[in-house]
Amino acid sequence: MPETITEITIIWEHALKEIENHVEPRIYDSFFRGTRAIRITDKTLTIAVSTAVAASIIKSKFERTVEDALLSATGSDFRADFVVEDASASVAEPKKEDKIPEFFANSHLDRQFTFENFVDGPCNREAYQASLMISFNPGQLYNPLVLYSGPGLGKTHLLQAIGNEIKDKTPTSKVLYTSASDFTDEYVKFAQGFKEDRSLVDYFRQDVDIFLIDDIQFLKNKSKTMEMFFIIFQTLVDAGKQIVITSDQPPQNLDGIDERLKSRFAKGLVLNIDPPDGETCKKILKSKIIAQGLDPKDFDEDVLTMISSKFNKNVRELEGALLRLVFYSATIKPAKHITISYANEAVRPLIESTEDKDALTENKIISTVANYYSLTPSQIIGKIRTSRVAMARHIAMYLDRELLGTPLIKIGQAFGGRDHSTVLNGIGKVERELKNDVDMQVAIGELKRKLGK
Ligand code: ADP
Ligand code: MG
Repeated sequence: MPETITEITIIWEHALKEIENHVEPRIYDSFFRGTRAIRITDKTLTIAVSTAVAASIIKSKFERTVEDALLSATGSDFRADFVVEDASASVAEPKKEDKIPEFFANSHLDRQFTFENFVDGPCNREAYQASLMISFNPGQLYNPLVLYSGPGLGKTHLLQAIGNEIKDKTPTSKVLYTSASDFTDEYVKFAQGFKEDRSLVDYFRQDVDIFLIDDIQFLKNKSKTMEMFFIIFQTLVDAGKQIVITSDQPPQNLDGIDERLKSRFAKGLVLNIDPPDGETCKKILKSKIIAQGLDPKDFDEDVLTMISSKFNKNVRELEGALLRLVFYSATIKPAKHITISYANEAVRPLIESTEDKDALTENKIISTVANYYSLTPSQIIGKIRTSRVAMARHIAMYLDRELLGTPLIKIGQAFGGRDHSTVLNGIGKVERELKNDVDMQVAIGELKRKLGK
């Protein structure tokens, strides 16, 4: 008989997948997504659902579906009972796991990322092969596996594919996927609520077999979180559990990450993913066309060549170009067969924006920062001193200096005739916050990405 919240959660996650195959997607989203199992007594599993209406509808219309799913998840007959989420909170098992934020008890896997729909080519072959091997032998080959690359080249996809593959093969295995920034947020919340850090480590030791942590660069300068991560890392490795990490740079270049951690990373297998070559890019494009339910034959070959050559630095942008083309042909200018001149017309705005990106200018920085904070460029360079506007202004100055190396005096002129010490102050504020403030790190990271840096 399953007993812990974790075991019950695993059963319910598994049952949910079954249910998802048997009900309409909208019904699933509204009634089942986000529900959780809260206790089990004498062959009755109690599920907390979002509203009283949901509880009664599920009971009258989907009880059979749920019980069949439980049968298939567990191999034995369970009755299902439904309660409303809030009302149930107070009766949840008062186990020690309850202290651990629910966040860590969820796998956070996204079924859309699998090995089947990952296209391998020379650019990512080693990363693909190592990921595949790890999903067959977690904890036994390289620990950790570290994948790094620029944005949009499939790191998250592979990380998720490892988790999904392991879960498919062994549904009871305990997989946790998290981005380093979510890990930080959740750890901070946890540390505020409970002084007993050990309980989180114990939780990981007992309840996580495969730890997939994305974008490790977000731990930079977060010394307390890094310390906890280090202990968890060591505990899992000692217990033979698999860790897979992604990073936007080679680990040795991660300034602000603890040297001890970096040296642990180097003990595993560190692999890079390159931008795709033309051939692989075309294969990815074809696979995305098919995934959209379309036929690659409806696209002239030179359309595929053009898109793959113009959007080859980042697969996310390649997908964006295809979506734009599909949207254009479905709504703006209906067409069944896509020719090169049609495609050029449809994706022109995207090409212009990527070309713009190559020529980064001061104005571009100002307008991008303004956009990001829902301000106008004239507010950024103007006189308003409210904290939000001032912060956006300082960030724009910082980026101007950092990305373009513009002299302070020139920055001052561009920002409404301010003198160079005002500029220096503003930049200094951003630099200080960058050391300690996650929000600032995220904002600068996002902005640099938008600026193509
Ligand atoms: P990263 O984490 O490196 O920034 P992602 O894994 O989020 O990149 O990939 C961005 C998008 O491109 C995702 O939709 C992903 O499915 C897709 N993608 C990237 N590489 C491939 C590939 N080799 N085959 C299929 N899809 C890919
Ligand atoms: Mg990613």
